Amino acid sequence: MAQITTDGLSKEYHSGDEAVVAVEDLDATIGDGEFLVLVGPSGCGKTTTLRCIAGLEDVTDGRILFGDRDMTDRRARNRDVAMVFQNYALYPHMNVRENMGFGLKLSTDMPAAEIDDRVESTAEMMGIEELLDQKPKELSGGQQQRVALGRAIVREPEVFLMDEPLSNLDAKLRAEMRTELQELQHELGVTTVYVTHDQTEAMAMGDRIAVMNDGVLQQVGTPEEVYRSPANEFVADFIGSPSINLFAADVERPARRDAAEGRGATLRGPGGFSYALDDASAVEDRDRVRVGVRPEDLRLVERGGNEATVTVTEHMGNENFLYLEMGGEELTARIDSSLRPEPGDSVRIEFDEEALYLFDPESGDAVKTKTDELGASVTEVR
Ligand code: ADP
Ligand code: MG
Repeated sequence: MAQITTDGLSKEYHSGDEAVVAVEDLDATIGDGEFLVLVGPSGCGKTTTLRCIAGLEDVTDGRILFGDRDMTDRRARNRDVAMVFQNYALYPHMNVRENMGFGLKLSTDMPAAEIDDRVESTAEMMGIEELLDQKPKELSGGQQQRVALGRAIVREPEVFLMDEPLSNLDAKLRAEMRTELQELQHELGVTTVYVTHDQTEAMAMGDRIAVMNDGVLQQVGTPEEVYRSPANEFVADFIGSPSINLFAADVERPARRDAAEGRGATLRGPGGFSYALDDASAVEDRDRVRVGVRPEDLRLVERGGNEATVTVTEHMGNENFLYLEMGGEELTARIDSSLRPEPGDSVRIEFDEEALYLFDPESGDAVKTKTDELGASVTEVR
């Protein structure tokens, strides 16, 4: 087992004169036995990061360590890493038994009988012992993925690297496999980096989540940390479903005398939006901010709050999603299923100051999050 460290990891690709920075100066530590989910939109550098850790790509800059052993220049097959891909990559002409044993046969001098024993006990653990004599084309997608995982597990590697391994499965099977994979990983205790573009999957599976955008690591934290204390607007927007409501607002500061008496500032936004802050310390000397409110933090009120117009109501059974329009901005509210306003209705919406997020309009950095203070999670990498 091993802790994985990437120290200033950078990877550039060159095609002709063009350079693409796929990963930029990535500092991260994945604890021994940890399950870290690397999440971000398509093209943000997730696969490249995994391939560098695996040794399938040369790094442009930086180092990769397993424990205190420098792996940067070591070949892939000397890194004791098992990688699982989205497309399974099983050998079509080999049966399941041969597919699962092939890595051990190739990379160790383990006797054939011992390889067979290991394959059989792993197959049992994965619930695929009945498939051992079948060829990949005879198996369903879910069974193939189990074989691909089994092939990685049987090698008892120091590190698992998984690149969107469940993406080809249907929704129900994917949800089942998520739970199963987590249980397996906890049981085996192998340090794992799991890549997905799906934030729901990341939130459901990760001990910690690393959010990437455009080659740059944005934040590492527990699911709760990235949700409640996002480092910036990108993370706030990427994590959570339905997405956080975001809009620009002006900060109206009270006259000096009022401020001295502790009267706070007021946020003025689209469609006459107005929100008086009790605590104006977050907006200090700012004139503009970006406001964020999660859909579940918006509630409907009879009086007060701000006015918005209902555009669509979606009945989810246990709750309703309400799509609203406020001065040209679209908002989403998650409300009780007993409340059923109709499209065209005018409603009043309110939220608590604790639930308010504020971001710097230029940098996107968080200036206020749900926890009020920017806690230890913010861009800090353990
Ligand atoms: P992700 O897995 O997050 O979707 P990738 O790591 O595959 O992202 O890609 C990151 C960036 O690097 C993208 O802009 C992609 O086009 C580029 N890239 C990836 N592989 C190569 C390659 N072999 N040659 C050139 N550019 C590449
Ligand atoms: Mg990828």
